[in-house]
Amino acid sequence: MKDKNTYPIIKTSGLYYTHNGHTDAARFVRVFAETWRALPFDARRAMVQHWRESKADFLNRFKGDTSYFENPAYWPRIEVSRRRTLNDDGTAAVQASYTDARHNGWPLFKFWHFAVNSMRDKALAYLIAHELAHSYLNAIDDPSHSGETRQEWETVEEGDYLILPWEEEARQMTESEWGFDGEAWEQWNNENREALNRAAKEASRNE
Ligand SMILES: [Zn+2]
Repeated sequence: MKDKNTYPIIKTSGLYYTHNGHTDAARFVRVFAETWRALPFDARRAMVQHWRESKADFLNRFKGDTSYFENPAYWPRIEVSRRRTLNDDGTAAVQASYTDARHNGWPLFKFWHFAVNSMRDKALAYLIAHELAHSYLNAIDDPSHSGETRQEWETVEEGDYLILPWEEEARQMTESEWGFDGEAWEQWNNENREALNRAAKEASRNE
């Protein structure tokens, strides 16, 4: 079944964007595809394999009853949302989030429309790569992202910031391993500090 609001990003990798009308679909698809292609082949393969396996697990668990899923043809789900999701950390979670089948239902990439729409391509690519890093670390069962050990990792306070170990791992993967330069993204953060703080406050109020 083809969803008219679904746009292929990279068909061969099973990557589709589910459009809710909150951003320029063509532009988002282009930047996501460029970001994905810039990743090492092994990383892409590990993610695709993990998504396939978790989909098979789910179908198995629900005995093929797909009514449980939000469109199981498009897995992982990738969307640009008006709702900010404030996870357990700072600004990056306000801008975007990734939840994994291992922890919360189906794999879901969620990007906040304000961030997507006001970022230049380079900053957006960095943000997308960061969420993909979370997905990859999940896929390879890295201790920073594995359910059993995650709780045991210590949170380090640095000035006003809490350094969360899984965020630190994702950042290192994005920058050191994959070579994305966070400068454009940092710059966007500095220029939008007020909007981000406001968003974070609103998101926590809606919890
Ligand atoms: Zn993160």
